[in-house]
Amino acid sequence: MPKSAVVLLNRPSLEAPPHVEGAAEFELLDVDAPHVRVLDLGVTRGDGVFETISFGAGHPQALAAHLARLAKSARALDLPEPDADAWERAVLAAASAIDPAPEAYVKTVMTRGLEGDGRPTGWAYASAAPDHSRARSEGIRVVLLDRGYRHDVAKTSPWLLAGSKTLSYAVNRAVLREAARRDADDVVFVSSDGYLLEGSTSNLLLRFGDTLVTPGLDQGILAGTTQGDLFAFARSQGLETEYARLETRKLAEADAAWLVSSVRHAAPIRRVDGVDRAVDTDFTAAVNSHLIGRTS
Ligand code: PLP
Repeated sequence: MPKSAVVLLNRPSLEAPPHVEGAAEFELLDVDAPHVRVLDLGVTRGDGVFETISFGAGHPQALAAHLARLAKSARALDLPEPDADAWERAVLAAASAIDPAPEAYVKTVMTRGLEGDGRPTGWAYASAAPDHSRARSEGIRVVLLDRGYRHDVAKTSPWLLAGSKTLSYAVNRAVLREAARRDADDVVFVSSDGYLLEGSTSNLLLRFGDTLVTPGLDQGILAGTTQGDLFAFARSQGLETEYARLETRKLAEADAAWLVSSVRHAAPIRRVDGVDRAVDTDFTAAVNSHLIGRTS
């Protein structure tokens, strides 16, 4: 079996015609074969949406939440609504076409397709997950970077698509290069008016005593599936959970801090802007074994 696989959907949305009338729902293709047209708006404009779903021991994790978020992002971009059932089958087909791995992921991409064509392009790509064990156990170093938007940008300027998972992630990659230049592994975005937001591809979680806190989702950040699952886990462990507006100083004041996301799961933050901070090793291990062990 291959290490990676791609499934191309014939009809990513029921609101648009299929690519090939009467063809199968999706096709399993060789990853090295060409799949996308050079004029696809996903390629030329980053005009589309995506999700990355982690798999633990062959089980998709938070799949329903990921597909709901794909639909929400599509709505924000005025794309046709993804056919959730077709996408679910495509995700599972892609995952089962690769070598079984303890941890894997499937990335789903839906673009606007060719200009004027009206048919979105959609595919699911499956692969074994990279090894994130060091980030999980030793922690990560972050720098605070100004995102340049106020915390209320989603309300004042919805056309900026803050909080949607669009294919326009060049900025999310540029900040990682900036982090590397500053001898760090990742970033925590800060609003132009001084509030903690999220990581480049993750949500920020802080622990104060028995309370887990994350920045409120009305601040132009992505509603994380991992953060959602972790809040449920924390409550099952007797902790309180809270959404809040957090001034930047709160990161240094917290008893522990993490960046949490699908695939990497919970990476404890051990240094902020060159200053070491405490890591909660036991809770981090408990959280990661919960996240890795999820079967739905
Ligand atoms: N915030 C951003 C900007 C992201 O891109 C991601 C995931 O890629 C997250 C947060 C975390 O979301 P999830 O936990 O659903 O992976």
